[in-house]
Amino acid sequence: METREHIYVGGNFVPSTGNGVIEVISPHTEEVIARVPDGTTGDIDAAVAAAREAFDDGPWPQLTPAERASYLSALSAEILANMDHWAGVISTEMGSPFGFSQMGQIYASTMVLDYYAGLAASYNFEEVRNGVMGPALVRREPVGVAAAIVPWNVPLFTTVLKLGPAFLAGCTVVLKPSPETPLDAYLLAEACEKIGLPKGVLNIVVAGRETGAYLVEHPGIDKVGFTGSTAAGKMIAAAAGKHLKRVTLELGGKSASIFLPDADLSVAVPQARGSGFLNHGQACVAQTRILVSRDRYSETVDALAEFTSSQIVGDPMDPATQIGPLVASRQRDRVENYIAVAQKEGGKIAVGGGRPASQSKGWYVEPTLVIDVDENSTIAQEEVFGPVVSVIAYDTPEDAVRIANNSDFGLSGSVFTADVATGIDVARKVRTGTYTVNAFALEFAAPFGGFKQSGLGREMGPEGLAAYLESKSISLPAGTVVPGVPIV
Ligand code: NAD
Repeated sequence: METREHIYVGGNFVPSTGNGVIEVISPHTEEVIARVPDGTTGDIDAAVAAAREAFDDGPWPQLTPAERASYLSALSAEILANMDHWAGVISTEMGSPFGFSQMGQIYASTMVLDYYAGLAASYNFEEVRNGVMGPALVRREPVGVAAAIVPWNVPLFTTVLKLGPAFLAGCTVVLKPSPETPLDAYLLAEACEKIGLPKGVLNIVVAGRETGAYLVEHPGIDKVGFTGSTAAGKMIAAAAGKHLKRVTLELGGKSASIFLPDADLSVAVPQARGSGFLNHGQACVAQTRILVSRDRYSETVDALAEFTSSQIVGDPMDPATQIGPLVASRQRDRVENYIAVAQKEGGKIAVGGGRPASQSKGWYVEPTLVIDVDENSTIAQEEVFGPVVSVIAYDTPEDAVRIANNSDFGLSGSVFTADVATGIDVARKVRTGTYTVNAFALEFAAPFGGFKQSGLGREMGPEGLAAYLESKSISLPAGTVVPGVPIV
């Protein structure tokens, strides 16, 4: 049993102002594995004050981007050096399989930090434009104090997608992790201590949604970076809008993978491992609608069924495990309800649909393949967030694109085809923020985010940095030369 009694404010571990406790429950054993303070509005006040002081009076925004980048590199190296420990903590608190935790939760996070550290050298924080009326010095200044609010499914990764660009920009941050996954956030605080991050640059208060809402509304917050559900995102956008706070929202998805008639099934089907069943479906980018040509329907369903049946369910700490438990009992109820509704609405369970017999405890759901799904049915329209993939038949490639676009969401997607040019053509037509041809991938140097109700703004790439910057234009007398600043 791990017990934490402090929050992280102003570079110090200090007691919470309240007595509330969050119990962290293992999704595998259903036992309480840790207790941490349930952060209060008073804790948020203290965290925002520390972040404000570090931004308004501290050296942090005055450091050069290269100096701030050196902290990102040091943080990345510190995390990487302890990768297996961090991976084990995340697998234990939220159930993601250890192999995915190593690569998807931890290593990917260090890649994001390294990417932003590297961007310091090439990004123009200042440039001179020889404009219509004369020269203008264009500056990109930090937006101020940012609130980072993250979910439990990829807790560290969604955190560094905010810290990387925020720190490089010169912002200071108040992080509110999800109550389901506080333990990696404590590791992050300790890592920041170890690398000597200036005090107040990162402050962490673990708390629930009401306290999160208080953080969003806090007058000391200039920008909100949020990852989570579309429902919460809408509330946060409305709250931020009242004060015109800057906001980036990374929300839910219901992405489609199109198998064109000429797709190589030996390539396309195993990609479901990384897309539809990624983090056992607890991924915003999960491609949980597989669109299959009627001409190759039964052949494709057979291959998908064989693949789904082969997924290894078990203890998330076992390196062989591919499908772990869902994060919480309520999440399993929700997924089971979606499976029941899918059948009522005409879907057929080809594989799974129940609880695995091999697990006597834990919030497990079998990897499930639902076939003959209607494109307008609930399971085809709503985010399930569990190991459930639906197969929808289409008549023509144009029909496949139309079905892919028949969604309130637009976060991810893929197409599989023998002809890459055709794949690019399909990618251009699908209304979604990220897409892959013949693979499932995420590129950290390219913008990531959602069309439609999947979000607002972008993370990753230079676009993710721009989200933590304000542009300022300084018009200059003709002929002015600003030393060291590039003319574009
Ligand atoms: P959630 O929206 O319930 O909670 C996310 C975080 O926001 C938590 O820290 C929660 O305490 C906080 N929160 C909730 N309501 C709030 C409010 N009104 N004001 C301030 N904070 C609030 O989501 P979840 O169940 O933790 O995570 C799953 C969701 O996250 C899924 O919908 C998934 O698609 C989405 N997600 C999106 C991305 C992406 O990049 N697009 C990545 C991962 C997860």
